[in-house]
Amino acid sequence: MPKEKHQPDHGRKLKPESRMMSYGYHPEWSEGAIKCPVFQTSTFVFRSAEQGKAFFEVAYGLRAARPKEKSGLIYSRINNPDLEILEDRLSLWEEAEDCAVFESGMGAITTAFLEFLKPGDLILTSAPLYGGTDHFLHSFLPKIGIESMEFQPRQEGADIIKQLEASGKQDRLAMIYIETPANPTNALIDIEACRAIADRYSKEGKRVLVAVDNTYMGPLWQHPLKHGADLVLYSATKYIGGHSDVIAGACLGSGELIHRVKGLRTFMGNMAGPWTGWLLLRSLETLKVRMEQQAANAEKVAAWLTKHPKVEKVYYLGLLTPEDGQQYRIYRKQHNSPGAMMAFDINGGADGQDSERLAFRFLNRLKLIKLAVSLGSTESLAEHPATMTHIGVGAHHRAEMNITEKLIRLSIGVEDYGDIIWDIDQALGEG
Ligand SMILES: *Cc1c(COP(=O)(O)O)cnc(C)c1O
Repeated sequence: MPKEKHQPDHGRKLKPESRMMSYGYHPEWSEGAIKCPVFQTSTFVFRSAEQGKAFFEVAYGLRAARPKEKSGLIYSRINNPDLEILEDRLSLWEEAEDCAVFESGMGAITTAFLEFLKPGDLILTSAPLYGGTDHFLHSFLPKIGIESMEFQPRQEGADIIKQLEASGKQDRLAMIYIETPANPTNALIDIEACRAIADRYSKEGKRVLVAVDNTYMGPLWQHPLKHGADLVLYSATKYIGGHSDVIAGACLGSGELIHRVKGLRTFMGNMAGPWTGWLLLRSLETLKVRMEQQAANAEKVAAWLTKHPKVEKVYYLGLLTPEDGQQYRIYRKQHNSPGAMMAFDINGGADGQDSERLAFRFLNRLKLIKLAVSLGSTESLAEHPATMTHIGVGAHHRAEMNITEKLIRLSIGVEDYGDIIWDIDQALGEG
């Protein structure tokens, strides 16, 4: 299959949403089929032995591809049309040079860690992190001599540098890895400030990488590469997949870095399969309309929640004001939408036990909104971070980050916003 990365865009710079239905695929490759089929195949037939040799030479890096020479299809662990087209389309949203897709978000994150970290290295991370990422950092990486150190969302750059220097480990810094907004409280981290710290400790021949898990916001509402990140990571299970029916992940960045990520992926064997690729291609066609509807609904729900007597506090980016100082400035700089994730403190019980009971009562009474973890999907979801997604975070840290028994996290879907509000209202109600 010939591949043209840069298909003609008819003399106009078309928006990603206009190209999601066709970019990277030609109907003549498949009997005129308007849609890219599922290339459910393990291997690909070479036209000649010479062609097979050429494909392998490039795939194994024995020589660089010649000008205009396309990397050929060999075997679906290395490449497959559904994956390659998906990678091209995801790159458009992110304005990244290249992308690697995986069978899960964790596959993307762990492969990036293993490719860019080595024994003796230090990785500096924000807190809290997604539970799976946190577990890998603290349970697996130390076994191969990779240490991690964390900072809190509201810490300023100078303070983080002080913490690093006090540890004496600053020269071992290899990567800064952040999740912004933080799950579940939407606390923001300044990507440019992380870039400045990374630059401070970069040396000739050793660039300290900045990697951002953009699952909460992307690929529509925050573009970390524009703020100095080297790598953007996704659980494509969330907004990108968007229908709660597939687990997948992605890593984006420069051609050079993604070439390395794909190299390790080939040998870990955790690339996305063709069916996963096809499902995500389908999802990407409606990415923008879904995300925009979700954000519009979230704005209505958040405004309504702030007025409800049983709601103490709402954590939603759209409620930040200039009084929030640093958080507001980061929001204005890094985001073009408040997104569709929010959390709120339920009002009531004085002690923890009572708050948990009230939160559970609310969750158990929901009729339309589903009680489930995950996020970013077409259906609205609710969960209780303190006893569910963030149960692994130490009690002390949970309190520090406002992840208390009274906190409920909501992922807003595409339903009618009036129906979502009705459901929350009846679940908060008496009787
Ligand atoms: C879900 C999630 C992950 C893990 O992704 P999987 O697709 O479940 O492997 C990583 N980071 C964040 C922020 C997530 O929400």
